[in-house]
Amino acid sequence: MPAAGWTIGLDVGGTKVLGGLVAEDGRVAATARRDTPVGEGAAGILATMAAVARDLVQGAVGPVVGVGVSTAGHVEAATGTVVDGTPNLPGWAGTPVAAWLSDELGLPVCADNDANAAAWAEAWCGAGKGLRTVVAVTLGTGFGGGVVDAGHVLRGARGGGAELGHMILVPDGRPCNCGRSGCVEAYLSGTALGREAERLWGAGADAHVLFARAESGDRLAREVLEVFSAHLATVMVSLTSLFDPEVILIGGGLSRRAEAYLPRMKARMDLILAGRRWSSDMVRLAALGESAGFIGAAGQAWQQSGILR
Ligand SMILES: [Zn+2]
Repeated sequence: MPAAGWTIGLDVGGTKVLGGLVAEDGRVAATARRDTPVGEGAAGILATMAAVARDLVQGAVGPVVGVGVSTAGHVEAATGTVVDGTPNLPGWAGTPVAAWLSDELGLPVCADNDANAAAWAEAWCGAGKGLRTVVAVTLGTGFGGGVVDAGHVLRGARGGGAELGHMILVPDGRPCNCGRSGCVEAYLSGTALGREAERLWGAGADAHVLFARAESGDRLAREVLEVFSAHLATVMVSLTSLFDPEVILIGGGLSRRAEAYLPRMKARMDLILAGRRWSSDMVRLAALGESAGFIGAAGQAWQQSGILR
């Protein structure tokens, strides 16, 4: 089969810009990374992204047909502009990422939110491959969500759709980064677990400490994870009703500790579902790890090119 060339995916996070050269079937031929110069504002971040893209273009055998960007924050996909930023990337809000990179590189560029890109990647060539409706949850520092239905990301009318981490889980509950109270992210995230650890064991304790203590049988640590599992089950059951997906995938840093909460979460989920239509079997771990963001961005660049439908 003759190769149609490559797209480049760039995933911008608070610590690094991770890029990859990706074929139209999702195969990754090369990767490149550079530290994110968070102190240099938008100009520094854009220059670093361009540098990672050039590293990859230089190593490509065959044409590069487009670039996709995955970034934290709220992205207006139609224009590829970051509408709302994130505390991890100061000065990023308002940046026309796609337009700037397109001028700089002379290639078509599209951009999307990192949770959407990760969901797109998993549906394209990860744990949701071949399925119609895929919900992907990123359990990391925060709680990201993306929904892909028949090859399209659910964006809503203003690009703010599928912000699953900001559904209300506990009315008038804990304060959330978004300014509201009781959001999913305020309970189900590494940050939330870290706060619980600090409350129990003092400053310096974090989610790692919590998992380690739970493993060694600490009763308080296990209680925190019990509540975490129950909250997660509530969210998963809501997601089955909202989207009727074939799978709900869990990725992100906390997915590496799934053995500490997933079995209890599944038991609780099955208790609530009581065998009606859905079961906890639909909850699985994501497959692409930290590559999901750039693979999804590259896949969206393929979609934009018209070669991949
Ligand atoms: Zn919120």
